[in-house]
Amino acid sequence: MLVARRLTALAALFALIFVPALVGDAAREHRLAPRAAVTRTATVSDHAGDAIPFSTPGHGARTSFYPSTAPRELLLSFDDGPDLSGTPLILKELDRRGIKAIFFVTGWRLTGRRPEDIARRDLVRKIAAHGHLVANHTMTHPDMCKNPDKQAAEIDDNTELIAQTTGVRPLLFRSPYGAYCRSLEQTLAMRELPDIGWNIDPQDWKHDDEDAVFSYLVNKVQQLQGRGIMLLHDTHSASVHALPRFLDWLARENERSVRAKRDPVQVIDYRAVVPKRPMAASGLPELVTALAADAVGSVAIHLPR
Ligand SMILES: [Zn+2]
Repeated sequence: MLVARRLTALAALFALIFVPALVGDAAREHRLAPRAAVTRTATVSDHAGDAIPFSTPGHGARTSFYPSTAPRELLLSFDDGPDLSGTPLILKELDRRGIKAIFFVTGWRLTGRRPEDIARRDLVRKIAAHGHLVANHTMTHPDMCKNPDKQAAEIDDNTELIAQTTGVRPLLFRSPYGAYCRSLEQTLAMRELPDIGWNIDPQDWKHDDEDAVFSYLVNKVQQLQGRGIMLLHDTHSASVHALPRFLDWLARENERSVRAKRDPVQVIDYRAVVPKRPMAASGLPELVTALAADAVGSVAIHLPR
């Protein structure tokens, strides 16, 4: 009886301690795990012209990205907001389709006491509450490589603003203009902030033309192989209005692909690029092992009768 009671006590202890920990682990994995390894080796020239090795994602045409896990997959990202006109329309379109995107926000839009400033902070909270990822795009959108002495403040001030506004510290960064250099790489590495680039960019800031944005996206996505990271600006009306047209086209295109037995484009979310962070050691596994060894030896665990 005593042995049976000891075993029952051990099982109860295991369930109490390990099961929540395992469930917590699984949930965290689901939320944070990238679908592929995050490192790559490549070479890029910084603004001074010297070739430097790096192991974080790059930008624009230089971007090789994390490996994709589907033949054709697409991640949506929106830069430079929040914008009181464009962002709510984008949120509505994403939400009604169940798509989760990344919003790289600029911190200057989250400061101030005017009604529109307060409304923008509410909007960022809404972005986060609807399950999208709010990420860091600096305070004032400078070229970080032309202003290396500003890098830390530009990143850290925006991180604090986003954390104060949403309750969550940003896990990703995007460098304005895709600027990349050794000093920025070091500044980001110290903060464990991955720099997320893009490879589908209709340059909506240059041509504020809805039809041109739509045609560009359709053309690029028709040819997509592997992972596409789409860059749009919620601050430009051409992208805001081209987005629902593009998503409607994508849904029809995917139906056509399935009928023709081609690979459809899978819209993925930010989990694909958020790196897995190791959990801090809790000491619980060691404690349970020690207790189990004791129980098997001579120490009984007393349960209430
Ligand atoms: Zn930008």
